[in-house]
Amino acid sequence: MDIFSKCHDFTRAKMAKAMGYYPYFIPFDDTEGTEVIINGQRKIMIGSNNYLGLTTHPKVREAALQAIKKYGTSCTGSRFMNGTLSLHEELERRLARFVGKEAALVFSTGMQTNLGTISALVGRDDVAITDKEDHASIIDGCRLSYGTMKRFRHNDVKNLEAVLKTIPEDSGKLVIVDGVYSMGGDLAPLPEMIEVCQKYGARLMVDDAHGIGTVGNMRGTSVHFGVTDQVDLIMSTFSKSFASLGGFIAGDEPIIHYIQHHARALLFSASIPPSNAAAALAALDIMESEPERFERLQQIAQKMRDGYRSLGFDIGNTATPIIPIIIRDEMRTLEMWKQLYEAGVYTNCVIPPGVSPGMSLLRTSYMATHTDEQMDRVLETFAVVGKKVGVI
Ligand code: PMP
Repeated sequence: MDIFSKCHDFTRAKMAKAMGYYPYFIPFDDTEGTEVIINGQRKIMIGSNNYLGLTTHPKVREAALQAIKKYGTSCTGSRFMNGTLSLHEELERRLARFVGKEAALVFSTGMQTNLGTISALVGRDDVAITDKEDHASIIDGCRLSYGTMKRFRHNDVKNLEAVLKTIPEDSGKLVIVDGVYSMGGDLAPLPEMIEVCQKYGARLMVDDAHGIGTVGNMRGTSVHFGVTDQVDLIMSTFSKSFASLGGFIAGDEPIIHYIQHHARALLFSASIPPSNAAAALAALDIMESEPERFERLQQIAQKMRDGYRSLGFDIGNTATPIIPIIIRDEMRTLEMWKQLYEAGVYTNCVIPPGVSPGMSLLRTSYMATHTDEQMDRVLETFAVVGKKVGVI
């Protein structure tokens, strides 16, 4: 059996491309955040995680440039060996303070943060308990661990309790949820989850990749609910509101110290380059000094949620700047995506296995730097295309 035969048999993507319905791996020739240029055509970007619009902020750009000038382009080694700069440690101190925890540890991506943290903590006799809509990096972190994984229905605290009840008292338990769900834009009910976790002696880890910047005055879901002290671990990424690349885990010092010495994704992978650390630090400065960005993001998100609802779109339970347009039928979702794209609006098309069958959607998301005029154009385009495709 040739191990490559599966590659030759994989024709789905090529067929979709030939039919003009392939919404992935599209190269942008240029981007200024809220708009991108593709094949010489300008499109409004509502498919990015650049929630605060900081990727093109002059101070963030300048910080990255200065870091390259000072330190060069790479650390050429893992944090463990030759890859730690004082810049990384400064970033960790600032992040810990920002999210309200004792200590933080920076990994090279958010994916690696989850892989490393979860597999370091969940040992042979331990159990990781995950929400069915948790991000892939959480699931893969559980798979990498020696422990077992159990899942509960999305945001269903009763079901979480039913699952916890089945786990022996002497097993270590780590419940892992997204703070803000990346597809639905809905929030995990942290206060209720904390109550159940405490009842069964489980620790709680929140992946706030989409929560930091968008809720809790930019400090995330735990601050939004006022429960930072009761959330054991807060994870996030730099690839969204922080306008960089990297990730971090924050919590009590002894736990972070343990992860630092046991997370293989940290120990055996190079650290983020100086420019990425400096960009994240500059983004953090702006988050702390420009609260109006958060207000603006809330305004835009509210305008778009109201706009889509009044046009008759199903946007589920979103409470954030992530607004899914739930279409359900896969072919109709692809058609809607294509027509929006041709009309100058870039969205993300999410079909199975990205979502469960019958739940295909367009993921739209907004930035503090979008203008009202751009948002009006988006709503007008959705109204026309939605009617044409038969979604509204
Ligand atoms: N967690 C969640 C909830 C995410 O959405 C993502 C990125 N899509 C990650 C983790 C991984 O982050 P990164 O892109 O930094 O690897």
